[in-house]
Amino acid sequence: MARRGLIAPLALAVTFVTAGGGTAQSQVPTQSPVDVTIGSIRIDPSQPRLNISYGLSDLDLEYVRKDAASATGCTARHHEETEEANVVPGAAHVTVAGVRYELEQFHFHTPSEHRFQGRSDPMEMHFVHRSAAGKLLVIGVPLRAGAPSTVDKVLARLAPECGEDVAIDDVNLNSLLPRNHTTFRYNGSLTTAPFTEGVQWFLTGEQTVSQATINRFQGLFTSGNARATQPLNGRTVTEVPQI
Ligand SMILES: [Zn+2]
Repeated sequence: MARRGLIAPLALAVTFVTAGGGTAQSQVPTQSPVDVTIGSIRIDPSQPRLNISYGLSDLDLEYVRKDAASATGCTARHHEETEEANVVPGAAHVTVAGVRYELEQFHFHTPSEHRFQGRSDPMEMHFVHRSAAGKLLVIGVPLRAGAPSTVDKVLARLAPECGEDVAIDDVNLNSLLPRNHTTFRYNGSLTTAPFTEGVQWFLTGEQTVSQATINRFQGLFTSGNARATQPLNGRTVTEVPQI
């Protein structure tokens, strides 16, 4: 973690790994989120498809606390806190190259954490999946003001930091995603502590949500709850067309 932010140590790290007999981990940080620049994108239609099997689920929307030890925790907005929707186990999964990843939860950031050519969106959804072997795959969906969508149903009432969760019945999880399943894929990390690396990121095009819902969420997280973009450090972002 101490090396996060260094731009140039790629060659050094390769040497280090070789010298360590192949057992040492690369010291080049591969953190998230990132700014997807045009120069970092490689189009590769031959990559395995992202197969999405999202069904119907009841949701439990909870406020994720990071400052429970603080006396002002119930009113202060910690920048890593969020609203998180827990799905019924088994209700949704994806498969990539024959590996199945179960959807565990999805949550929200404002503004968007990922950027495209420096541009951010008002919000971003993260769908967090885990394989049986414990490998994480996160689908990131930027949210933009426009036609109302199922996202409005999920965020119609926000869970308070110190209070009851919000129960939401019968949500069509598939309708939370954009219809176009073209993805921008790269290897990164969790965007909150402990910033664990080895996370497969799949970024989609935007979904729309009403301006009123954006205002409601930003009214809760007035200082935002997004991590700053991290250096690509030589990583490429693979665009896989999939209509
Ligand atoms: Zn997130």
